[in-house]
Amino acid sequence: MHGGWERIAELADKAPAADRAGTVRRLVVYLRPYRAELGLAFVFVLAGTAGQALGPALIGRAVDQHLAPGADPGPLNRAMLGLLAAYGVGFVGFVGQTALVGRLGQHVLATLREEIFARIQRLSIRYFDTHEAGDLMSRLVSDTEVVGNFLTQGLMQSLGSLFGLVAVVALMVWSSPVLALTTLVVIPAMVWLTRVFSSQARDRYRTAREAIGEVSSNLQEDISGVRESQAFARTRRNIERFAQANAANRDANVNAVAVTSAFTPAVDVLSAVATAIVIGLGGWMAVTGRIEVGTVVAFVIWVANFFRPIQQLSALYTQAQAAVAGAERVFDLLDEPIEVVDRPGAVALPDVAGAIALEGVWFGYQPDKPVLRGLDLAIAPGQMVAVVGPTGAGKSTLAKLVLRYYDVDAGRVCVDGHDVRDVTQASLRRQFGVVPQEVFLFSGSIADNIRYGRPGATDAEVEAAARAVGAHDAIASLPEGYATPLGERGGALSAGQRQLVALARAALVQPRILLLDEATANIDTRTEARIQAGLEALMRGRTSLVIAHRLSTVRRADLVAVLVDGRIVEQGTHAELLARGGAYAELHHKQFGALEAPAGAGPDAPPVQA
Ligand code: ADP
Repeated sequence: MHGGWERIAELADKAPAADRAGTVRRLVVYLRPYRAELGLAFVFVLAGTAGQALGPALIGRAVDQHLAPGADPGPLNRAMLGLLAAYGVGFVGFVGQTALVGRLGQHVLATLREEIFARIQRLSIRYFDTHEAGDLMSRLVSDTEVVGNFLTQGLMQSLGSLFGLVAVVALMVWSSPVLALTTLVVIPAMVWLTRVFSSQARDRYRTAREAIGEVSSNLQEDISGVRESQAFARTRRNIERFAQANAANRDANVNAVAVTSAFTPAVDVLSAVATAIVIGLGGWMAVTGRIEVGTVVAFVIWVANFFRPIQQLSALYTQAQAAVAGAERVFDLLDEPIEVVDRPGAVALPDVAGAIALEGVWFGYQPDKPVLRGLDLAIAPGQMVAVVGPTGAGKSTLAKLVLRYYDVDAGRVCVDGHDVRDVTQASLRRQFGVVPQEVFLFSGSIADNIRYGRPGATDAEVEAAARAVGAHDAIASLPEGYATPLGERGGALSAGQRQLVALARAALVQPRILLLDEATANIDTRTEARIQAGLEALMRGRTSLVIAHRLSTVRRADLVAVLVDGRIVEQGTHAELLARGGAYAELHHKQFGALEAPAGAGPDAPPVQA
């Protein structure tokens, strides 16, 4: 519970007032498959508490009945064995309960995580525009843990503590109502103490959490941005800034720990007061013959056992609040509607020839801010179309709509005459090979990464795909070739090498349509020439839609579509559009003017320095 305390406190703060019952009911559903185990655990809990509570009564009886001078040792020995047996049952109950419930908790936890992960994988792209990976991870990892732990350990511990308390109080009242009631006057003090401490602890832990948040955001930024911070000589400032945040966090935690560490001694004081009452009043009652000495002895032990459950219950209450809040966050995610869904009766798109048509397409990420405004574009099978336009015009958006990452607000997108909303998403996307601008490489080897879209491909097929796009030599020259392991985000590969891997990945699925967002990042001219050659091979015989950033690409395109203000304002070949002297000519001048090679140089010649 130590590491999770921060999360528990954070969640407890957010504990929702409304619809707790609904959340709890839904949580119980996760326990349903384990009814038998839970029943058994419950029996263990009962056994444990009974053993713990009865022990002192047995001790008391032994003191009264068998501790007389010259008494027969037989009954005393038997009483001792009975005591051992009672505590033995308590021990077995406790161990059994803990083991059983711990196992069960892990099962519930795994189920929750599986469901969340499946949901996250299926959620539509728009969800990820507005939610951070970090937040999703914390729901998957820590919220589920808080929920799972409480559902199992916490629930049983609460029951155990509650039974323990009830049993001890009942036995105390049964043995001596007067002594019991007098001893129990410390309860209000205990309740008051718990409240004061927990509210103090809450406030201070909240401050500590904010402080650690500051530390980790500092860390995260300055580690990810270490190149920038060194380039701009920010190192010293960053170190100072971090030292401040770090010190604030230290002080906040010292402060918080001060409160929590005072709680236990304070409870001990109360416990001592109660013990003093028992010995004082109980002693007087025993001396005056009102009760037996053994009852006083039993009371002393009960009083010691009496505070533990109260302490536990107050901690468990916080845990329960946190669990409900965590569960709400988990269920929110599980209930998150999937925006783009297959229409009922959607059919699988058969292998396409590769015609793409956008007809009167309106689309905006926010309803009131249209990005595409009545866009029309028709691409014939096998055509290579370059989309150009100013930054932010909506070129990438157009590509996302063709893949149906989002649904259009008006108009339609068709592939081979099928509205993309009428076919299943999987069958639609299977037709595409996508090469994004920022290539994401997963951990695993280069071969694994090429295989990403077709996990069953053989080594020979992987190599053939790499050869087809001209990536083979570059990969083979790496120390471990195709087996070269890649860290997250591609590890030590250059931007050009990553592009080559992405091209091979797209080539391996043998797509009918290629969607390519050209890299704007600088790639050395040799790699660029290699990528160009690979691309040409890849595009042959396929429809391709390229968001073009390079002059060589637009020159080679069968059709150049100029996207301005959410519409295609001009289309034709590079030469036609240049001759027309319209939007393209202007854009061309701005975007490629500096790159325009002098007459005689090839289209792929590097920029000429003045
Ligand atoms: P281009 O590819 O032509 O540079 P985009 O299609 O990426 O342009 O973006 C078009 C417009 O949509 C821009 O104004 C951009 O800010 C906005 N936009 C892009 N992606 C998102 C998104 N996920 N959420 C909200 N707005 C977006």
